[in-house]
Amino acid sequence: MPSDNSRLRFAPSPTGALHIGGARTALYNWLAARHDGGELVLRIEDTDRERSTEENVAQILDAMRWLELDWDVGPVSQAERADRHAEALRRLLDSGHAYRDHATGKEVEAWKAEHGAGRGYRGTPTEDPTAAIRLRVPGEGETVVHDLIRGPVAFPNASYDDFVIARADGSVLYNFAVAVDDAEMGITEVVRGDDHLSNTPKQLLVLEALGQEPPRYAHLPLLHGPDGKKLSKRHGAASVQELRAAGYLPAAVRNYLALLGWGTDDDTTLMSTEELVRRFRVADVGKSAAIFDEKKLRWLNGRFMREMPLDEYTAAVARHLGREADERLRAACGIAQEKAQTLEEVWALIRFLFEPPVSDEKAWGKVMKEGTGPVLEAVAEALEPVEPFEPARIEAALAPLLDRFGLKPGKLYQPIRVAITGTSISPGIFESLAALGRERSLERIRAAAERLPPA
Ligand code: GLU
Repeated sequence: MPSDNSRLRFAPSPTGALHIGGARTALYNWLAARHDGGELVLRIEDTDRERSTEENVAQILDAMRWLELDWDVGPVSQAERADRHAEALRRLLDSGHAYRDHATGKEVEAWKAEHGAGRGYRGTPTEDPTAAIRLRVPGEGETVVHDLIRGPVAFPNASYDDFVIARADGSVLYNFAVAVDDAEMGITEVVRGDDHLSNTPKQLLVLEALGQEPPRYAHLPLLHGPDGKKLSKRHGAASVQELRAAGYLPAAVRNYLALLGWGTDDDTTLMSTEELVRRFRVADVGKSAAIFDEKKLRWLNGRFMREMPLDEYTAAVARHLGREADERLRAACGIAQEKAQTLEEVWALIRFLFEPPVSDEKAWGKVMKEGTGPVLEAVAEALEPVEPFEPARIEAALAPLLDRFGLKPGKLYQPIRVAITGTSISPGIFESLAALGRERSLERIRAAAERLPPA
């Protein structure tokens, strides 16, 4: 049932760019918050001072904005909440839920070797302020994560050490900071990657010690590449910035990422963002790893591109190319819209309208045969009087040449295409000629004919 007080958070660590897995986590949190009429907190988990950089924070925010995922609170820096963490720590020391202990990691390992692995280490409290601070973990029972996706997952407490929650200098450790922040920020639902499931019992133990009600948890299955291996760079675009550079539309990326683990069985279903918001429920996310297949994203992106109103399409192409969305670009977009699957592909299709054609020698060699010269001359002659110079009339003017030279359509139109565009891929040939205009078309067709042997 929708509630108006749900609160989610997206909590990236700024140790690198936002990758596809992180983008999906951000999207799922955003969808859940928007579905519920709840709030989304953006929390930057920058407590690792060595690896967290300002550039990475900027990159993450830029990626969120490009994906059009807005947030209601933040960005909140976790590092800047150090006072709050110290205060929570003090409370646990005062209440006896935490204590200072001198044992180093090595000593704990030695203790376990002696007492048997799988038996949690329980330290010896000291008042000495140079000792690290551990949380007291009950020696028995279990901590159960009631995961919205996986169901209950039980972790026996006996296998946990009294784990360190703060260093001797008072700086707190990751699981402690996360638990304190989730509690103090009133987070009701934690949606994050599966790789954090093993952290959850520790966070639950901290919350329990603090006397806080835990949020609900949902751990998202990992993303794999089409080869079934964990998603990585070799599967194609890896970061959100790379997706943008490759010419994908934010709406298509949202659609595709939403379907990675959630929704229909068909991960190529076209859905508007409004529909995603209306239908999305974290509890409907599947348990098994989802496959990120860039080919499917391309296909889906192509569908979004074809369905865009021309003005919007032109604006997106202009932005991608860094050009002005003027009439000329709009006309070019009009004939390319059917053909391109990404914004990046558009330029190759329309370039001939803006620059003289640079002949692709391979394409040239393939279609410019002996006898093509006279055909192109006849094409120029047939086009000369066409008025107005528009696709249907151009087609009608060229059609008789098929019979006259005994050619199949491809054998007539491919040489024209190579002549006017330099390549063998372009929008429809009649549309391309019309968009280029009579004068430039004739010039290019005649120039190509001149390069070929005469009759
Ligand atoms: N900062 C963690 C990460 O980027 C996420 C922690 C969480 O969501 O609890 O992987």
